[in-house]
Amino acid sequence: MSDFSAEFSRNLRASGVVGAGGAGFPAYVKAQGRAECALVNAAECEPLLKKDQKILEYFPGKVFDGLELMMKAVGAKRGLVGIKKKHEKVILRLEEIAKSRKNISVLEMGDYYPAGDEQCLVYEATGRIVPPGGLPLDVGCVVSNVETLYNAAFAPRPVTETFITVSGAVRKPATFRVPVGVTWREAVELCGGATVKAPAYIDGGPMMGKVMTDFEAPVVKASGGIVVLPKDHPLIVKKAQSRPVFSRIGRSTCDQCSFCTEFCPRYMLGHNVQPHRVMRTMLFSSGPGHKLHSQYGLLCCECSLCTLYACPEGLNPREACVAAKADLRELKTGFKNSSLNTGRAPRVHPVRDFRKVPVSKLVKRLGLEGYNKDAPWTEFSYKPPRVKILMSQHIGVPCVPSVKEGQRVEKGAVVGDVAAEKLGCPAHASISGTVGRVNEKYVEITA
Ligand code: SF4
Ligand code: SF4
Repeated sequence: MSDFSAEFSRNLRASGVVGAGGAGFPAYVKAQGRAECALVNAAECEPLLKKDQKILEYFPGKVFDGLELMMKAVGAKRGLVGIKKKHEKVILRLEEIAKSRKNISVLEMGDYYPAGDEQCLVYEATGRIVPPGGLPLDVGCVVSNVETLYNAAFAPRPVTETFITVSGAVRKPATFRVPVGVTWREAVELCGGATVKAPAYIDGGPMMGKVMTDFEAPVVKASGGIVVLPKDHPLIVKKAQSRPVFSRIGRSTCDQCSFCTEFCPRYMLGHNVQPHRVMRTMLFSSGPGHKLHSQYGLLCCECSLCTLYACPEGLNPREACVAAKADLRELKTGFKNSSLNTGRAPRVHPVRDFRKVPVSKLVKRLGLEGYNKDAPWTEFSYKPPRVKILMSQHIGVPCVPSVKEGQRVEKGAVVGDVAAEKLGCPAHASISGTVGRVNEKYVEITA
């Protein structure tokens, strides 16, 4: 690792920069790798979410600064911003800025889902297929989210704010930044509140996000946004299905048509993901048949296309894959030690280009046409009375609180950290104030 990579990686860790696309992977780890191509994932294909586009529209220079730092750290010869063609105005601006930056260009992509899946993005940008169970680094690429690079440009300044979109059934959909640790209820109230009597919230986008039961839950560094919908909206009902319910319905209804597999973006890339075979596990209570078919879910990226778009019976193969992965984790089986790991190089399906799912069709299928509006950039400058800083906002080992009740902290102070040799990064106070409750899950701060 070069001196620059080591220093940049230290700065990223100190500032607590994590993958802001939802995953929360500590960014310093990526900066320690070697890659020929650094990609900015600006595809943002989740319907209704706009935060990456707004960051690129209002703060493009900072994202380019972060990209240049990442390129230098990993030794990349080129940088690519992967963004959908439909964002013409933003693309013009990015191309203008790219002229003054070395080896950076814009990759225009079609408006389909899930263009932002990092393995799909790597293939579109380079023609390379990430090996099954592998990482983009295995094919010489490093992929970072727009907000991650924006934050990287400021490192070692601590990450104390996060960008979010609030959309759906709210009075004034908006994209804005808030201190980490405000509640989702506060974020929705900033947008004028819900327009329906009995709202339900999806944390994240309609496709990959989860239905929330606790509106007082705090916004975290990896949060992308929230979609508010009526509680009885079919998308909420489907997402809230429990395992016994989707298993019972799946067992009696799945006709093994395999549409779920035929539309799966990872299967189309040549990975052995076959959700229709995972659905077969519902016919077995346990035993070898269960395990064999469960393995076909191991490489599922949980994009939800099979469940929310492909299945003609309205079943839930995505959750079947999620459950299968959890079962196999208990048995200590991952892809690498599964019987599907043949070592053969994946080959892209010949009809992949014709099976791409346009986002416009997806929005109709999800019943979101009435909510598919702009969420304009808004500066609220919101000063919350209290924040709750979660100790687990990243992939890896949770932070251990480093402050005590009653202690005074300034904005940006470390309130929890992870041992240097473990995967993880510190959490910071997002406001100045007095520390309230402290436990292994969170640190509360009152202004
Ligand atoms: S698409 Fe639906 S019905 Fe067909 S195999 Fe998949 S889960 Fe079963
Ligand atoms: S959620 Fe379904 S479509 Fe998406 S990767 Fe998993 S199996 Fe494939």
